[in-house]
Amino acid sequence: MSGLKAAGLRLGLNGRAILGGVDVSFARGEVSAVIGPNGAGKSTLLACLAGLRRPDDGTVDLDDADIRRLSPRARARRMGFLPQTPEIAWSVDVETLVGLGRTPFVGALGLGAADREAVARALAATDMTGMSQRVVTTLSGGERARALIARALAGEPDWLLADEPMTGLDPGHQLDAADLFRKMAADGRGVVVTLHDLSLAARVADKIVVLAGGRVLADGRPAEALTPQVLAEAYGIEARVVAGAGGPVVEIVGRRG
Ligand code: ADP
Ligand code: MG
Repeated sequence: MSGLKAAGLRLGLNGRAILGGVDVSFARGEVSAVIGPNGAGKSTLLACLAGLRRPDDGTVDLDDADIRRLSPRARARRMGFLPQTPEIAWSVDVETLVGLGRTPFVGALGLGAADREAVARALAATDMTGMSQRVVTTLSGGERARALIARALAGEPDWLLADEPMTGLDPGHQLDAADLFRKMAADGRGVVVTLHDLSLAARVADKIVVLAGGRVLADGRPAEALTPQVLAEAYGIEARVVAGAGGPVVEIVGRRG
């Protein structure tokens, strides 16, 4: 069966369990959100799912292949990964940065016509076509975030794993990114994102995994996972979940007791 599955993931650092036995699976055709407080292990889990970090124990299967058995290039062709704090070391223009997303496909000759078309599609999908010649280091935080999403999209991967891709986007571009992820899922791809905005998570995701202290606290449809009890336990907050026009809306009342 196709899907992205983690079983029994454990990872400890300095005697502390960062992931304490995580079993999760994600389906193609769905947007999945991983939420949880700071330090919950979301970024660590995503890096393990992407095969970029090796757990002490447990396995990750990507469409039924053990991720450790895929070469980095084979993995990168199938999966786009967007780290939480991506390094942009040099002053390249946006188009060049997005073109780096084609790296798993290009040979010694550099980008070909098909690569350039994919780059153009990724720029258009993120509303960055008009900024393609801008130098990346001169972009605003939100523009840079969109350029980085475009880079991850340029490889047109079956799976997109993005760590807080919406952070720093204005509400309009957050909705655009949500639409983009929904469209990728509708195309049969699998999308896994971490984010902090609970209402946005409810709106974009088919499934929500709530992580706290390296463990899965809840895993299900937004209405199942985002309950006042789960939110109290995960974040130490009192919250109400109300029905909104675009899906469940989480109203944060305050710190719990
Ligand atoms: P989240 O993304 O949910 O905020 P992380 O996965 O980044 O959480 O981190 C989970 C925990 O692991 C945090 O307590 C963090 O400080 C710790 N951690 C992550 N990476 C390292 C590392 N390389 N060295 C030491 N501690 C780390
Ligand atoms: Mg993180």
